[in-house]
Amino acid sequence: MNDEKKVIGRFAPSPSGRMHLGNAFSALLAWLSVRSAGGELVLRLEDLDPARCKRAYCEQVEEDFRWLGLTWDRGGLEEGDTYLQSKRSDLYRTYTEFLQEKGLLYPCYCSRNELHAASAPHRSDGVLLYGGACRSLTPEQRKEKAKLRRPALRVRVPNERISFTDGVMGEVSQNLETECGDFILRRSDGVYAYQLAVVVDDALMGINQVVRGCDLLDSTPRQIWLQRELGFATPEHYHIPLLYGSDGHRLSKRQRDIDLGAIRAKGTAPEEVIGLLAHWAGLLERPKKVSAAELISEFDWAKVQKMDIVVP
Ligand code: GLU
Repeated sequence: MNDEKKVIGRFAPSPSGRMHLGNAFSALLAWLSVRSAGGELVLRLEDLDPARCKRAYCEQVEEDFRWLGLTWDRGGLEEGDTYLQSKRSDLYRTYTEFLQEKGLLYPCYCSRNELHAASAPHRSDGVLLYGGACRSLTPEQRKEKAKLRRPALRVRVPNERISFTDGVMGEVSQNLETECGDFILRRSDGVYAYQLAVVVDDALMGINQVVRGCDLLDSTPRQIWLQRELGFATPEHYHIPLLYGSDGHRLSKRQRDIDLGAIRAKGTAPEEVIGLLAHWAGLLERPKKVSAAELISEFDWAKVQKMDIVVP
């Protein structure tokens, strides 16, 4: 990172439930990375999915974030709708039209069942590679299909390898055609996809550093490609290890026992949670009570380990 450039990072939770330890882990590392560099942190609420996201969860995210001793400089609910993805559809539409004019998008009429029936290989994230059924439909075929269903919009990816260096995980490389496949940019119900929203928002919000769970490592090559197609700069990336329960499952918002509500109800101090998270990250040799602010001076990405973490 160029010394003169101010680091602008973000914490971008989906308000679809109470924050759990995995979200708090991402929040802490994003915050430490920015604070140790004298940068700025943006809080963006990724409430794209109207069926799963609630305003009350947004409020809880902010409250839990503050309880952990973390702060943000820009974003969140107090700035009105600006940092809520559900209110930014007009922007996403503008950039979608730009990609459409470049001939990169096509309507996809495939139903969920059709997608599963197609004998396509799986991507590394377990999702099917798109088989391409709607890629080269004639205008007449489109008209026929449009009588039956509203299409999603899909991106036509090139046979191109995208490589980047992740600050934690190292060299990452993916061929878009064979390992990612044509992906959805707007769902058939009109909701814009995370892949587009995140790229547009990171660029418009001036983000130059992305810290997030390594479940999104696989999404990064297509986001980098979208950034190039849209003429945006690519931020630095730090993909951090994921937290797993002792049953081998990734911590999720469905497991109530490890969410911050349950942890706080037990009377746990925020310093205990921060100490544990910092220990798991590789920043403390053993867990101890510590405030987030006390960790700033010692923070260094070189200390952050990349192995998945099993929460005892
Ligand atoms: N909203 C996503 C999540 O909560 C994170 C997106 C990102 O950091 O790019 O998993």
